[in-house]
Amino acid sequence: MIVGGVEDLKNAVLSKNLCVACGACANLCPYIDMVEGKAIVFESCGLRNGKCFAFCPRTYLDVASLDYAIFNTHRTDHVLGVSKMIITGRAKNPEIRAVSQYGGVVSALLSYALEIGEIDSAVLVKSENGIDPQPVIVRKRAEVMACARSKYLVCPTVSMLVEAIKHEKGNIGFVGTPCQVEAVRKMQSSELKLEASRIKFIVGLFCTWALHPLASESIKEKVKGRKILKLDVPPPPANIFIIQTQDGKLEVPLEDLRKFIMPSCNACFDMTNEFADLSVGTVEGDEGWNMIIIRTNVGERIFQKAMEGNVLEIRPPKEDNLKHLYEAVLTRKRRVISEASSGNIAYLLLNDEYKLKILREAP
Ligand SMILES: Cc1cc2nc3c(=O)[nH]c(=O)nc-3n(C[C@H](O)[C@H](O)[C@H](O)COP(=O)(O)OP(=O)(O)OC[C@H]3O[C@@H](n4cnc5c(N)ncnc54)[C@H](O)[C@@H]3O)c2cc1C
Repeated sequence: MIVGGVEDLKNAVLSKNLCVACGACANLCPYIDMVEGKAIVFESCGLRNGKCFAFCPRTYLDVASLDYAIFNTHRTDHVLGVSKMIITGRAKNPEIRAVSQYGGVVSALLSYALEIGEIDSAVLVKSENGIDPQPVIVRKRAEVMACARSKYLVCPTVSMLVEAIKHEKGNIGFVGTPCQVEAVRKMQSSELKLEASRIKFIVGLFCTWALHPLASESIKEKVKGRKILKLDVPPPPANIFIIQTQDGKLEVPLEDLRKFIMPSCNACFDMTNEFADLSVGTVEGDEGWNMIIIRTNVGERIFQKAMEGNVLEIRPPKEDNLKHLYEAVLTRKRRVISEASSGNIAYLLLNDEYKLKILREAP
């Protein structure tokens, strides 16, 4: 077992600019806080085996062990990870679709899981001004809807999840980007005590990168006081960031914002949220739909209930969409594994067989 304390966290993650700002280490420790997109250690506690090190997604990530702990099996699809079904879908309710990012599958599933008692609360992300994200605990459908749409800036949701574990009763749901979900899975599989087993439903968002909180000022300058309704990043080769305001759409060259991409995102090998119960992303060229990867028994059960409850409509994914997704993920994995092999990325624990499969796979 790999163990470490706060000094190891500083050496392996913070000093290398690899913090993902998920907040897993803060809120568990009086000496760590999140400041401007980074965990800051105010004082060293001296512990050699700390939760801050154990739960951080960038100290180490043992992919095969996590696969086994979550899925009770090893992956056969080394690109998209363990899955039971890959399907496209959208919320049946047009009111949900109207306020959501794409097909509203995440908001529809979360609110249904609350309604049927699969979970009693959930940790989501809200933004009053459309940019600056805040993690919140929700218990009702209206609160889920108020959190819909993607906020492309990092948000310390795992810190709020720790708050929910401390103060909420019953089962908890969570929506997060891949690094955030990795932190949650590390909590659940850790021997260090935390009631993480009450986290019963984890919905993972596909993700390529997230922006540092400093991007907020730059976006505000561009919208010049207009109210932001939605942000979007269309797939390549568009190379633009779309800001939908009350007065129309602004198309910002991605280059203008690239400097705000979290450095830790460059070290990420997980674009499809491989450790979630169910992962959700966009469908290229079909904006009102989501790509859904059902991964665990829990994900499958809640998805089936949502189908029986008339909450979602589905259709088979187009071969082209699957091919593009597979290629994009493979390209990312290949780059990150090459860098890991040359010693630039140390946190990823992958066996040689897995690495060779990725490096040899034809795109
Ligand atoms: C930073 C980021 C990058 C992404 N990159 C990609 C990508 O490259 N490719 C792709 O296919 N999809 C990406 N997505 C996912 C995509 O934008 C949609 O969130 C997803 O397809 C679900 O769509 P929906 O209509 O079901 O979402 P909705 O029903 O609108 O629900 C969205 C949910 O996301 C949560 N959320 C919003 N912002 C954040 C955040 N910053 N951190 C954690 N949770 C948040 C909200 O709480 C809400 O529950 C990204 C999302 C984020 C937040």
